[in-house]
Amino acid sequence: MALELSGLHHVTAITAHAPENLAFYTETLGLRLVKKTVNQDDVSAYHLFYADELGSAGTEVTFFDWAMAAPNHPGRGEVSAVALRVSGSEALNWWATRFDGLDIPYRVMTHPTGGEMVAFTDAEGQRLQLVDDSTARVPGGRPWAGSSVPEEQAIRGLGAVTLTVGRLESTEHVLVDVLGFRKTGEQGSMALFETGAGGIGATVVVDVQPALPRARQGRGGVHHIAFRTPTFEEHEEWQRRIAAAGINVTPVIDRFYFHSIYFREPGGVLFEIATDGPGFATDEDPAHLGESLALPPFLEPHRAQIEAGLRPLTSPTTVADD
Ligand code: ZN
Repeated sequence: MALELSGLHHVTAITAHAPENLAFYTETLGLRLVKKTVNQDDVSAYHLFYADELGSAGTEVTFFDWAMAAPNHPGRGEVSAVALRVSGSEALNWWATRFDGLDIPYRVMTHPTGGEMVAFTDAEGQRLQLVDDSTARVPGGRPWAGSSVPEEQAIRGLGAVTLTVGRLESTEHVLVDVLGFRKTGEQGSMALFETGAGGIGATVVVDVQPALPRARQGRGGVHHIAFRTPTFEEHEEWQRRIAAAGINVTPVIDRFYFHSIYFREPGGVLFEIATDGPGFATDEDPAHLGESLALPPFLEPHRAQIEAGLRPLTSPTTVADD
């Protein structure tokens, strides 16, 4: 069996302001909150999942809500940009106009994969990009019908991630020799790697910046990135392959919505491989995803205690800063 990762599964980032984060990713960016659960390793923190209508693998941007997190300090050894895919240059223009109207600063630039992008940040400095997915071979997600963003302009999932590392060789070794990515380009400080069908949805950009200080992870930064594998059997095979390569990888962890393994690549970025299923409709009606606090069965007996320990997730009240 030839193992092949089919693309990006999700990105998990850090917020210290969950209500504002919820408003930005759902109201401004138009994503659907498909799951409101807790960090399974720290149940005092929400784990919020934003995605397409169904919470499809490849469309999820998720956040740990860590109120006490220090600001993220950019540097080497981190995910330095997350690209989200939209359906073409008209959609990019639509977003630029939307950002103008909302006073959200942005820059129109060329993405390392070659297409046009709109680069912007959320209020905590999370580095985001919108990219044109009109040439994508990895299918995008299904836009959320309840979104404030029209379907034609909707964010359809993850397009690419950029890692900033100190040196290329060791990160390239893990991507290519262990994870089966193909190196498809190199330009200046950047190298491109693709997996599966390649292109948007299946690309990792590695930006080599040896002079930068080591990144310090915090709010407004990315915690880890996850790649997709379709089945539990292939997932177990990946765990064995990564361990056999001498990399310190976790055992398979049942996250209830998917299975996960985690390991740190030598450049400093935490990688995860996650299964496409069972998915987010496994414990909720697809019409009502994310509306109430969802807990995996092993945490359900502790629901009252967990709910009491969470901060309210109500919409932020506007505070005039005059
Ligand atoms: Zn994850």
